[in-house]
Amino acid sequence: MMKVLITGCAGFIGSHLAEALLARGVEVAGIDCFDPLYPRNHKEANLESIRSCGGSFHFVEGDIRNPEDLAKAAGSKAPDAVVHLAAKPDLRQALKDPPECVDVNVTGTLRVLEMCREINVSNVVFASSSLVYGSDTKVPFRETYSADRPVSLYGATKRAGELLCHTYHHMYGANITCLRFFTVYGPRQRPGMAIRVFVERVLNGEKIPVYGFGKPARDFAHVSDIVEGILAALDRMGGYRTYNLGYSRAYSLTELIRSIEVAVGKKASVELLPDQPGDVMVTFAGIDLAKAELEWKPEVSLEEGIEGFVKWYREIGRNLELEEDTTNPS
Ligand code: NAD
Repeated sequence: MMKVLITGCAGFIGSHLAEALLARGVEVAGIDCFDPLYPRNHKEANLESIRSCGGSFHFVEGDIRNPEDLAKAAGSKAPDAVVHLAAKPDLRQALKDPPECVDVNVTGTLRVLEMCREINVSNVVFASSSLVYGSDTKVPFRETYSADRPVSLYGATKRAGELLCHTYHHMYGANITCLRFFTVYGPRQRPGMAIRVFVERVLNGEKIPVYGFGKPARDFAHVSDIVEGILAALDRMGGYRTYNLGYSRAYSLTELIRSIEVAVGKKASVELLPDQPGDVMVTFAGIDLAKAELEWKPEVSLEEGIEGFVKWYREIGRNLELEEDTTNPS
């Protein structure tokens, strides 16, 4: 049976990926340290959902920067592949504590690569980001464009992670695929991310904070499409590769808010605010390479994805937020 180790397994994308792998009959090992970016009860609920899938799932609470924790998570049988998702994934969190962000995203990635070298894992998928591209990149972004001028600390750490991946591939021969995710949304989306905050505020009749005076446009990728992209990458490992994964359309924040209003059935009240440091005006994934080489294409439109997200938020997400006060945030 194939075995995959997922770092950041209790998080948003990691938990969906674990479920998809278990559904394929893959043995899944996971590590997560319950980073305090959002409360622990959300991640415990994600793990509960993974466990309810049945199949072989082994989870270790630990930090990717600690080689002993990583070894424990990998277990006695080396995984066939590692999907490295654990990170400080938030632009603003990165600004609050830059050394910690670099430590987790860069040193943590190095630790994961070192573990792969030591136990001979020959396939690694690394979660990179659209933010490796700079603010003056032509749209749609193509993998061949320079990614040497990120404008956020978070983007710089993801680019550093890609460079380490390339070096480890070159020095030790592992197959490594870097996937540049564009803004990912869907059920279990991290609290604090735009779509989740917007939906919550529209439901509560509160003002939506819209940065960049509403001008920025984003490529929104549904988590189910991102998971399919990771699975496609795992099926076609070979050499060192980089792919953009997005819906390949830039939606303005006005369009996004309109989709939310339709799904919620309520008008939004908007508060226009200036740019935040590290924000870019537009992200737009060129996905020809992923289509051609991974035989992957996104299926979920923003309208459809938002409708599903609102349903999940009403039934589950909102309750997790209400429970936060009665659980111990990590
Ligand atoms: P998430 O915060 O829900 O998941 C990340 C998980 O990593 C969390 O559960 C966290 O506890 C864990 N983690 C953090 N530091 C750790 C450490 N030192 N040791 C062990 N575990 C640790 O975020 P997500 O949205 O699921 O993001 C997953 C990956 O995808 C991240 O690498 C992120 O940078 C990348 N990414 C996400 C998006 C997006 O829009 N969600 C876009 C581009 C890239």
